[in-house]
Parts: sequence; structure tokens; C-alpha cells
Amino acid sequence: METITPFIEVIDEIKEAGGEIFKMCFQCGLCDAVCPWNKVRPFSMRKIIREAAFGLTEIEGEDIWRCTTCGTCPAQCPRGVKQIDVSVALRRVATEYDVFPASVKSARTARASLISEGNPLQGDRKKRADWAKDLSVKTYTEGMEVLYFVGCYLSYDPRMKKVATATANILKKAGVEFGILGDQESCCGESIRKTGSEQVFKDLARKNIKTFIDNGVKKIIVSSPHCFHTFKNEYPEFMVNFEVIHMSQYILELINAGRLSLKGEFPKQVTYHDPCYLGRHNNVYDEPRDLLKKVAGLELVEMEASRKNSLCCGGGGGRIWMDTPREERFSDIRLKQAEKTGAQVLATSCPYCITNFEESRLNLEYEKVIEVKDITEIISDMI
Ligand code: SF4
Repeated sequence: METITPFIEVIDEIKEAGGEIFKMCFQCGLCDAVCPWNKVRPFSMRKIIREAAFGLTEIEGEDIWRCTTCGTCPAQCPRGVKQIDVSVALRRVATEYDVFPASVKSARTARASLISEGNPLQGDRKKRADWAKDLSVKTYTEGMEVLYFVGCYLSYDPRMKKVATATANILKKAGVEFGILGDQESCCGESIRKTGSEQVFKDLARKNIKTFIDNGVKKIIVSSPHCFHTFKNEYPEFMVNFEVIHMSQYILELINAGRLSLKGEFPKQVTYHDPCYLGRHNNVYDEPRDLLKKVAGLELVEMEASRKNSLCCGGGGGRIWMDTPREERFSDIRLKQAEKTGAQVLATSCPYCITNFEESRLNLEYEKVIEVKDITEIISDMI
């Protein structure tokens, strides 16, 4: 009988990342029952956990790259297994050995661009603030009320630049004294870390932290739940703590404080999609909804899977940079769920979700069926 030698690196990484999963996982399969992949193709997190525990994972395969880190299975696991940490640990081993299946190769392009330009979109670092050229947005200086950390997609992606513009207009209308970092801003590093490129994450994080400290930054407002998550929960690993507020929370604060008032009506049904890194990972469920409820004429309707049961768009865990066949896209399913509510608008508050939903809108030929908007785009039309 053939003897299989356990992959020692896998066991070491798993021990560090996932704790004593030998003892913990009792193979109940609940993770597989709730995993969104099983809506589109067979996939077993339970099997990954089992094989990883014995160092028997095939790191050449596609499966270790599937987890979108949506956070659905850890929330359900009766044994407290850290499935996301295990997936990321396996990717660290694959990255170390430079083993990538074809569908993951585009994530390497994103990584190269992060290293050279500080963003995953192959945008020129010098052009990071070009979206704001005609908006008279200031560069952050010490003593300003808040730093607006724009993020990569809002800085470079043509669709998402509209969200950055909407945000700047809202902040100006409310009289917020804010600034941006322009070409001093680097990617927060959240998603590249989830692909196993730990050193790239650390380099990006250190660069941002140094910039924040050098510029006397205290309070940061962000549009992306991925920036929100990593500043709030991962940058403290570097012994720093900045106050971080997601834009949906901040705009609600501005309205409640009487600094921003909304005019006119938005006579449409709107359904709100909870991004994984705002909802499940950080428990921000109410503020985006409370903000939408402030808009006169807007009727908020819920999808059957919402709040902690929200369906992932498929973009987390670095999947936004990987190739997913059309028939396996969660965002197509989510758009159909939104359409089922009868809403004319699917609102959300994450650049990855919007990117995936806009693509699904084209794939499903839903251009006339439903619009996709960031919450700030709705608010900016009402000021
Ligand atoms: Fe193991 Fe938890 Fe998955 Fe059950 S839900 S198989 S205990 S990882």
C-alpha cells in the first residue's frame, strides 16, 4: 500500500492558524450545508478541514482557492473551527511554493500591481487622486476633522469613481472638513492577505500606518467594508488603533446631527444587500437600512436571505481577481433574489459587490429590470 507523507508545512500553518482542529472538527458537514458554493457546484469545506488536519491537502487544486471568506460557515460551526484561517493558511503554502491553478493566475497580476503601484488594478500610483481633480477635494493635513480613505476601486475603476464623487459631494454639502491622501494612499491589503500573500499585506499595512501617523490621522472614514474590516480588526496587530467609520454609518451620523438634510423624493422600491465584511464580519446591519429609511418616498423591501443570512456576491477572499465561470457566479443568484422582491434598485455599500452585480446585470440582461447603486449615490441625489 502506498504511503502518503503528510505535508508538514500544511500542518504547521494550520496549527498556527486554526488551532487544534484535530480535536475540534467532528465532521458534521454543517459548513457544507451553508456554503454558497453548493448552490452552484459541489464543494466541501468539511473535506478541506479533514485533509488539512492531516497535512494531506492537494495544494495544486482549485478547491483551496474557492473560499470567499464570506463568514457563513464559521458562524454556524458548532465546534468553533476557523475555516477562513485554515483556507488562508493553505493559500500561504501554495503561494510559498508558487503553485497556482489557471483560474487564480489573474490574482498574481493583482499582486504584482499591488507591489509596484499600491493598487490591484494596474493603475498608476500618481493618478490615484485623478477622480477628484475637478471636485476641489483637499489633501489631508493634520487637524482636519476626518481622513477619507478612498480605496483602490473608487480611485481607479470607472464605475466606482462615481461612488467616490457622490461621497465627496455629500461630505462637502455637510460641511465636513475632510481630506484624502492621494498618491500617499496604498491598498488596505485586506484581500491580498486572504490569497496567502502575507508579506505583501504587511508591507501595504506598514506603509499606510506610517502615512497615517506622519499625517496625524485620528479618524478615518471608508467606503469599502474591506478597508473597514482590516483597519478595525487587522491593523491593531501592528499595535495601532485608529477610529474607523464606514460611510453608511458616518452619513447617518451627519443627518442625525442635523449637518445634512435630504430634499425631494425617491419614489422607488429598494432592496439592500448586506456585504459580508460589513454585516457578518462586523455586525453593521442597521445603519445602512436606517440611512435608506431617511429618504422620502423610498420603500425598503427585504430579500429572503438578508442580514446574517445574506448571500455573498462572490468577491471576497481575493475571488474578485480570480476567474469564475458564468454559471458559478453567486452574484447572478443574488440579483435574481433582488429581482424577486419587485425592487427597482439593488442598493449596497461595497465596491466588490457593485462590481459583481453590475457584471451580473449585463450577463442576465437585467439592465432594464433593476439598477445597482451604492447607498451614497442615492443620498447624493437627494441633497
Ligand atoms: Fe467540522 Fe465545523 Fe464543518 Fe462541522 S461545521 S464539519 S465541525 S468545520
